[in-house]
Amino acid sequence: MIDHIQDRIAAVQNDAENFSPERALSWAFENFGDRVAISSAFGAEGMVLIDMASRVRKNFRLFTVDTEFLFPETYNLMDRIEEKYGITIEKVISLLSPEEQERAHGAALWTRDPDLCCNLRKVEPLRRKLGELSAWITSIRRDQTSVRSTARRIEWDSKFGLVKINPIVDWTSKQVWRYIHDHDVPYNELHNQDYPSIGCTHCTRAVRPGEDPRAGRWPGFAKTECGLHIIEPASNSVSVSSSKAAKFGN
Ligand code: SF4
Repeated sequence: MIDHIQDRIAAVQNDAENFSPERALSWAFENFGDRVAISSAFGAEGMVLIDMASRVRKNFRLFTVDTEFLFPETYNLMDRIEEKYGITIEKVISLLSPEEQERAHGAALWTRDPDLCCNLRKVEPLRRKLGELSAWITSIRRDQTSVRSTARRIEWDSKFGLVKINPIVDWTSKQVWRYIHDHDVPYNELHNQDYPSIGCTHCTRAVRPGEDPRAGRWPGFAKTECGLHIIEPASNSVSVSSSKAAKFGN
């Protein structure tokens, strides 16, 4: 069954490189129905995708991993999204509250071991959420980080064992912002205060002139990714459930 899904992905993958973002979204909704959801942290790219999805399908599923360390501006944006698009954001949180994490791992884990902190607050909750789904839609772009540079518009996600759709994978930041302004899309107010990339309060700062747009993430660490979009070899992709597999093509 896994081979069947991967064969289907391989068959469409090259053509999909020429899909418009809207067509990629339609393809995802037609093939997976309620078993596909958009994952977003509500950056500029995510807002483009949410706005596009609202034009392709009503009542699309949208979820976020809420680390409980987000900026007030991000929570405010979530409220504005729900109101504008008439949807309810599915929020996934860590199994550990911030207080429980501190008791188990000590204070300010993000200053000592941000990978563990991201695993507890982002990767594990995401893995749990993706267990409900057959496919997920992300707003990653190839030029954001070296890890993302080989992403395809439609691909098999070996790390989490489901299909991954990246509708704006080949867009530039300039295209993203042109879409936002042309379509009057809401966005995080922190973008107007030199925060091009926004994560948790503890691990995000404004960037200085000339710095890389992601220089404000995990300052002081070599880390550039929280682990959600790390690509693993296809040989690791053996754990898809039969229920996920059976849904493909619905
Ligand atoms: S971004 Fe920082 S605070 Fe947020 S989960 Fe990762 S390490 Fe923890």
